[in-house]
Amino acid sequence: MLNDQLRRVLQQMPKAELHIHIEGSLEPELIFALAERNGVKLAYASVEALRAAYAFTDLQSFLDIYYAGASVLLKEQDFYDMTAAYLKRAEEDNVRHTEIFFDPQTHTHRGVPMDVIINGIYRACQDSPVSATLILCFLRHLSEEDAIATLEAALPYRDKFIGVGLDSSEVGNPPEKFARVFARSRELGLHLVAHAGEEGPPAYIYTALDTLKVERIDHGVRCLEDQALTERLVREQMALTVCPLSNIKLCVFDKMDQHNLLELLDAGIVATVNSDDPAYFGGYMNDNFIATFEALPLGLSHAQRLARNGFSAAFLPAEQKQKFIDEVDAFFAKV
Ligand SMILES: [Zn+2]
Repeated sequence: MLNDQLRRVLQQMPKAELHIHIEGSLEPELIFALAERNGVKLAYASVEALRAAYAFTDLQSFLDIYYAGASVLLKEQDFYDMTAAYLKRAEEDNVRHTEIFFDPQTHTHRGVPMDVIINGIYRACQDSPVSATLILCFLRHLSEEDAIATLEAALPYRDKFIGVGLDSSEVGNPPEKFARVFARSRELGLHLVAHAGEEGPPAYIYTALDTLKVERIDHGVRCLEDQALTERLVREQMALTVCPLSNIKLCVFDKMDQHNLLELLDAGIVATVNSDDPAYFGGYMNDNFIATFEALPLGLSHAQRLARNGFSAAFLPAEQKQKFIDEVDAFFAKV
């Protein structure tokens, strides 16, 4: 059990969230409210029936429901409301900075225009006291041509997002499938991240690094299967955005006491804690920290290190990063 002091520290410490899919923050209540507002018919009779369907066995079983939930998003105000709800929740968890993933193809394929998506999400970020930037993700189960067309369609709004990422069904869709669109994004000066080594093998982490030239690995927990890769991640101080509750819900680990977060930290990896798809996986930032610290022998020094890692791995100007890290250290000096 967690002692009260550690629980309070985990709740109150300043945090950065670097792995959050905004569509995965849609709570069933908001899905139903938006469905009603937009006249969209859902396959579930009630909020409870929808929530009961969140018993996933793997990544694909989750993605099927995730895409169904996103079908209620049609207008700019819908994207605004979804993002504002997440940012309010993040603020309550003392998240000071967040880099939000969004999946334009989930919406453009349903006929929702790019400007509606980006402007709605961006406007909510502007209105929030939480520092928030956007990362456009390509759906890896679709073709690279589709990703390239998506990037081109988003370029008129280039000032509203800071990077690109790669998400959706990992196995069978290796990073190298997207070599050209990442090269183009790199030319445009965008930051680069990719999901790799969640369900996919360490080989996917290598190609994310070497072919896509990513600056952070999303998940990456399977890196420990490869000693040379682990050493390289440490040497290059390549951050992993680890999502503990997601890993349990999607059966990457059977139980939280088997999660490898402590081993990652002990190996010297810049691991961070994040919520991934909080509405679907049973918790936001503080829930993730508390569940992990309850199950693993982690203490105050790990909490401070994880909080620092979140800001040091963020895509922020050096002074701003240092300001946040100083805030973390000032917080822990008073604990
Ligand atoms: Zn993710």
